[in-house]
Amino acid sequence: MMKTTFFIADLHLSDDTPKLNALFVQFMNEHAPKADALYILGDLFEAWIGDDNDSETAKQVAQTIKQFSQFAPVYFIAGNRDFLVGKDFARRANMTLLPEQTVIKRYQQRLLLTHGDEMCLDDVVYQRYRRVMRNGLVRFILCHLPLKWRKQIAAKLRDKSRSRKVLPQNYQVADVSEQGIQAAYQRFAPIDVLIHGHTHRPDVHIHSINQNRLQRYVLPDWREHDNKCGFLALNEHGITFGEWLFMQPENKQQESKSL
Ligand code: MN
Repeated sequence: MMKTTFFIADLHLSDDTPKLNALFVQFMNEHAPKADALYILGDLFEAWIGDDNDSETAKQVAQTIKQFSQFAPVYFIAGNRDFLVGKDFARRANMTLLPEQTVIKRYQQRLLLTHGDEMCLDDVVYQRYRRVMRNGLVRFILCHLPLKWRKQIAAKLRDKSRSRKVLPQNYQVADVSEQGIQAAYQRFAPIDVLIHGHTHRPDVHIHSINQNRLQRYVLPDWREHDNKCGFLALNEHGITFGEWLFMQPENKQQESKSL
């Protein structure tokens, strides 16, 4: 059987997204036997307060990824919301943490993988916030606050993102800028394919940089009430967008009864 490399991003899982968490478990269990690798390109979690996070979601996700990893390796690139995911959680989930921009080689092509927020250079306010948050000292202090405090901070962030969903105009994430794409490209050139998430604008774009052709695939985000999720699949035939529909547990039972 031809194996597939899967890419997902922007699931934004939390204890507030039970349907999405169930969808993730189902997606993982169904795709593991067909996979040769899975790349999670950030914002797997809506918020991450440190690897001592004892939420139900954290436990379920760790267990699900660990199970997947019995079939194929799982790689994780942090997003802007879960950049505090660290070695302890990676060990629990049996996944490998990768640098925020990572090049892999597949089928004679060089693919650059990233969450993508670092390419949104037009959002000056966000880039300033990002520099502060990703600073080693700030990270250290954040991680050493009492768990209770960090839970309160996370709850506030969740409230904020809930109100953001009420106001669609606030839901917009800045798009990546041409300058940001060029900077990423120059750092690892030559690159054939760039895969990222973050912007929630699934699409494929063709860029021409110094007479080189760059294909840019933007991953879809996952949503609580969609009952489906999107991903990218790479095999020897190329890259395609895929969609996975949630199968209701009762249908599954019917299915197994008829066997
Ligand atoms: Mn993001």
